[in-house]
Amino acid sequence: EKIFSGFTKTRDNLAVVDELLLYWNLAETDRVLDELEEVLLVADFGPKITFRIVDKLREDILSGKLKSGAEIKEALKSIVLEFLMKKGNKTELQLGFRKPAVIMIVGVNGGGKTTSLGKLAYRLKSEGAKVLMAAGDTFRAAASDQLEIWAERTGCDIVVGEGEKPKASSVLSRAVKRGKEQGYDIVMCDTSGRLHTNYSLMEELIACKKAVAKVVSGAPNEILLVLDGTTGLNMLPQAREFNDVVGISGLILTKLDGSARGGCVVSVVDELGIPVKFVGVGEGVEDLQPFDAEAFVNAIFS
Ligand code: GDP
Repeated sequence: EKIFSGFTKTRDNLAVVDELLLYWNLAETDRVLDELEEVLLVADFGPKITFRIVDKLREDILSGKLKSGAEIKEALKSIVLEFLMKKGNKTELQLGFRKPAVIMIVGVNGGGKTTSLGKLAYRLKSEGAKVLMAAGDTFRAAASDQLEIWAERTGCDIVVGEGEKPKASSVLSRAVKRGKEQGYDIVMCDTSGRLHTNYSLMEELIACKKAVAKVVSGAPNEILLVLDGTTGLNMLPQAREFNDVVGISGLILTKLDGSARGGCVVSVVDELGIPVKFVGVGEGVEDLQPFDAEAFVNAIFS
């Protein structure tokens, strides 16, 4: 499975955990936990999660609940899994019954927004859905062309901007209208991703949301935030801002095939309380996988 190769860097970082725990005995607890702490920090779990994990392990070791290195490792895995699964996080897409369902993809430029939209469209189309793309990134000149390539590659239809300076919200509005009139199951909306410090982007995203709501009388079914996995914990402030302004229903973490330090996945889920729905593990059409928390934990602590 690609997801397993996807996390090699993280797994390499964490491989030392096994060795560490193999030689654990009660007298060595402090040293072993100090080292474990360091390893988790390097893998980008972030200080908050790391300290909580280590504290919990220490407590269970000292109370006699954990009696061997193997038990400690299992406990470590289940604590991490718990962080990923809490708040009844739904990792599957929630598309409801309204037709068309609307998925908005947001995120900063370069994170993998357009690519992820293309890969997700491919997946949904393979599952039998009639998918329409909307080229809502009207700010970056090449974005529309790039999405058109994905439309061709995946055999999906697309609505692009018209005229000199098309407004993103108008493109989305037209797309959702067409989706409704022509019986599409899903409309997938790309959006602009110029730097989030530029506040007008957030205003534009709000306008996009409203434009969709006006046509289908309801919010988009999913607003997925695409985050570049290689930026590790640095993605947090950015993710918070998007969530505060537009309300994010799920995350797509991209480039986990590269040098991503996968521990940040745990921190992001914990900090934002938003589930990861998909992970990007390459640039091809099939390189987007539904996020499976258990498989993820097994992959990084294998
Ligand atoms: P956007 O500006 O957010 O729309 O980002 P793009 O979709 O244009 O992606 C930026 C670059 O990252 C492109 O070269 C993509 O091929 C690449 N990319 C996107 N997702 C992944 C991924 O999961 N893995 C790898 N290795 N590259 C990716």
